[in-house]
Amino acid sequence: MAAKYELPKLDYEYSALSPYISEEQLKLHHLKHHMAYVNGANTIFEKLQKSRQENSDLDMKSTLKELSFHVNGHVLHSLFWKSICPKSLSREKPLGKLAKLIDSEFGSLERFKKEFSQAALTVEGSGWSALGHCKKTNGLLLMQIEKHNVNCLVGFRPLLVLDLWEHAYYLDYKNERAKFIDAFWNIVNWKEAEKRVEDA
Ligand code: FE
Repeated sequence: MAAKYELPKLDYEYSALSPYISEEQLKLHHLKHHMAYVNGANTIFEKLQKSRQENSDLDMKSTLKELSFHVNGHVLHSLFWKSICPKSLSREKPLGKLAKLIDSEFGSLERFKKEFSQAALTVEGSGWSALGHCKKTNGLLLMQIEKHNVNCLVGFRPLLVLDLWEHAYYLDYKNERAKFIDAFWNIVNWKEAEKRVEDA
């Protein structure tokens, strides 16, 4: 049985993140762009299954490259919808274990936000900024992911991710990525990141 992914429902209305992310932008991003990765991943699983059933050969290199792109695209988008929330549910700062870890790793919340924003601003082309947690060291680290699957570190649990593909902000901010990053800090879902680090 081939793995089958589905587009997850959002925890909020499409209009709930406005003015930071408009209804039109969010709808397009979720229903069209995220959907394309779900479909892309499922198509590759079907292709793999078919070639196994027929015992035929596949171009493993290109198939697995596509697989990592689409599966990571789906997983990262699913995390992104959880990394943001309506302004009324957001907070200025994290609490608990996450707050302690950020302080011990980065020195302060301000320093963390600065590094995360710089990673976001400087992603080459399309990509992501992500905060990850290492279970072994109980430390935090930043990832600057190109596309969905390059420079991605394995074995770290992502806590907070920000999509920097132009499709994430172009309708609202045109080419001004920095404005989108500033907007993000108004709608960060710290509660979800706290939950993810507690579960780690
Ligand atoms: Fe996206």
